[in-house]
Amino acid sequence: MKVTLSVASLLVPLLEGAEPGKFLYNDQAAWPTFPAIPLGSNQCNGKQQSPVNLNSDEYACKPDIAGYQFFAGDCTLGDYHFTINDHGVKASVEKAICEKPKMISPGTDKVYEIIQFHIHTGCENKFNEQGCDAELHMVHLAQTGLAVPRTSSEQELPDLAVYGIMLNGVDEHHEAFDSLIDSWKAVACSTGNCTAASSLSAILTQPFSPYSLIPTSTDTYNFQGSLTTPPCWEVVNWNLAEAPMRVSFRQILAITNLIIKYSGYRSTESNTIGQCVDDISVVSIAGLSGRDTHPLNDRDVVKNCETIQIDGAFPALLSVTEDVKSGTEPAPSSAALFPALLAAVVVAASTAATLFLF
Ligand SMILES: [Zn+2]
Repeated sequence: MKVTLSVASLLVPLLEGAEPGKFLYNDQAAWPTFPAIPLGSNQCNGKQQSPVNLNSDEYACKPDIAGYQFFAGDCTLGDYHFTINDHGVKASVEKAICEKPKMISPGTDKVYEIIQFHIHTGCENKFNEQGCDAELHMVHLAQTGLAVPRTSSEQELPDLAVYGIMLNGVDEHHEAFDSLIDSWKAVACSTGNCTAASSLSAILTQPFSPYSLIPTSTDTYNFQGSLTTPPCWEVVNWNLAEAPMRVSFRQILAITNLIIKYSGYRSTESNTIGQCVDDISVVSIAGLSGRDTHPLNDRDVVKNCETIQIDGAFPALLSVTEDVKSGTEPAPSSAALFPALLAAVVVAASTAATLFLF
């Protein structure tokens, strides 16, 4: 890792007992010292950081506002690439060839396409200072307005939106959530420590959209924020469901166990499968991978109480065509627009693929 001498010296205490470049949830004060590689600069000390605490009494439903629109696409569970690393579990769809789930965030009128979703153990955002047991983040990349303008000295950063759902462990089983747990277990079992669920191959071909996990009746809060891991770029249009997803305590523990298993039992460089190695996880000593909340400062928060709509197919690039119509050039047909838009999205997605978006 190439870093300047001054930054490297700042990192020395942090690297003791951890792999180079790792940020530790027990040492979040050190996060602003992490170099932003390969783009931009570290913004962990910025004024629009995530996560945040929202006091729900302070916000009323905004009247005369459009509702969220979700388009499920046609990807199957098998189109997602499930991974476990030492601070969480993630499922990525950005390289899959399928119609990916998309969201229109009412405050922006942009179309955002899912690139991955992941789960933090412990809560990140809070309502009324109340935490939760885990938090699911669906990370989207904008299809329109591909990059956030930066100062001339910085390169353009990805234009992201996250839809976040809190998970609470209750005495109630969430059947659909088992499909995800089984998919992550299959990753863990690929190291030879266990056997993947025999039912997994059957569910991989089933259509799946993480939007199906959104609580059926929830209000959503919209505000500007940041990535919750270094370099904490303030490029995220945040959308947070107020109603939590109810899963069983065992399901929460299953996710936590997978993260712990990865950090405690993984193959070493010598290909020794299943050998117990030193705990290299970045999670806190409580087993949590949630960043502490940060001040809202003067950010606007919009509470959207309209009914959430989830459709199958995405209508052919409606919002893009509308943007073009407002210019002086004659509007091209959606068919003519599509290849150029697709190429632009592919470029943006491949840039994002190299970055830490967890
Ligand atoms: Zn996250």
